[in-house]
Amino acid sequence: MKSIIILGSTGSIGENVLQVAKTLPERMRIVGLAARSSTERIVEQALEFGVKRIALEDRAAADKAKKLAAGHSIEVLSGADGIAELAGSAEADTVVCALVGLSGLRPVVTAIETGHDVALATKEVLVAAGEMVMEMAKQHGVNILPVDSEHSALFQCMQAQDLSLACIQRGRKDGTAANCSSTIKKLVLTASGGPFAQRDDIAFDRVTVADALNHPRWKMGPKVTIDSATMMNKGFEILEARWLFNVPVAQIDVVVHPESIVHSMVSFVDGSTLAQLSVPDMRLAIQYALSWPERYVADLQMIDLIAQQSLTFYNPDEVRFPCLRLIREAAEAGGTMPAVVNAADEVAVAAFLAGKLPFSGIWRVIEDVMRVHQVVECDSLKRVFDVDHWARFTAESFMDVFN
Ligand code: MG
Repeated sequence: MKSIIILGSTGSIGENVLQVAKTLPERMRIVGLAARSSTERIVEQALEFGVKRIALEDRAAADKAKKLAAGHSIEVLSGADGIAELAGSAEADTVVCALVGLSGLRPVVTAIETGHDVALATKEVLVAAGEMVMEMAKQHGVNILPVDSEHSALFQCMQAQDLSLACIQRGRKDGTAANCSSTIKKLVLTASGGPFAQRDDIAFDRVTVADALNHPRWKMGPKVTIDSATMMNKGFEILEARWLFNVPVAQIDVVVHPESIVHSMVSFVDGSTLAQLSVPDMRLAIQYALSWPERYVADLQMIDLIAQQSLTFYNPDEVRFPCLRLIREAAEAGGTMPAVVNAADEVAVAAFLAGKLPFSGIWRVIEDVMRVHQVVECDSLKRVFDVDHWARFTAESFMDVFN
């Protein structure tokens, strides 16, 4: 029986975690829930799953939740501190982090320091502070398990070599973490390409919010859906894979695969390539992060390759989608640069969603911020938060030209 805390329980991933937990009551119990501000929904979830401890980042929402939960002996924590405190609850053994953006970093660090495994959906945590977070996980002997479908696919392909243990469970007490890159030739991340990959006719300065939110394959939260449309999401996934599996960025490729059936592939040094295939349903990756190293029965649709008939793959267009190039440049620059890209992207995507920035402005703002950043070593959490603050402020100032 796993005792699970869900950070971001009212978002798309969080709701799917609860659906998975509901089908496996003998395997999983939910002991904590956190959200930003969705008061009614989180209290509903707590009552349905018998959760006695919840947290809301928004303090007014937390006060409202206390009133709603009155008489049900539910403890309500508030603020970013409250979410971090929840992540460190002693009765849990696994924390699912599905918060949006860098807000996931502090609670993930608390979970690791408490000794909890982390099932990580918030890739931004590894984009901004991957080296530090993986090092902490190693020190505390905890596992960082991928919830992102592509990384779950890579992880599952690695099971064949037992590399998953070597790469992910870097906290093994005997310290025998293998060097994955000696056996792995390439990691190949597949990308649906978002709504615009096959639409050469679309002018990126005139894309509407509704167009960009209309993802062809996955129903996800707004931030990651816009990141998918710009392909920054795939860029972030390169860095996520780099830290999760300890494989250099030069050995991580991206291919566009519009059907979203092959979720990613691992090519080995002997010429073998393993792929993981399934219908696109995020419950599979969520369940695997929580069942690993076992597999549990799930009532999910199987792929029908006969009906599918064909699977297609092609190279991404880095001229039309500059975010992939920007991420490789950021990885090359190293240090604080990926955290800068992450912060500038959060600000630019929020501005686009608010109608204050054209779609193509997203990567223009990010590139402008990168050009003026002086890279320093990313050696402490304080450094990450300082540089995050600087990059947000700088991104805001560069957006003035669009208004
Ligand atoms: Mg993904």
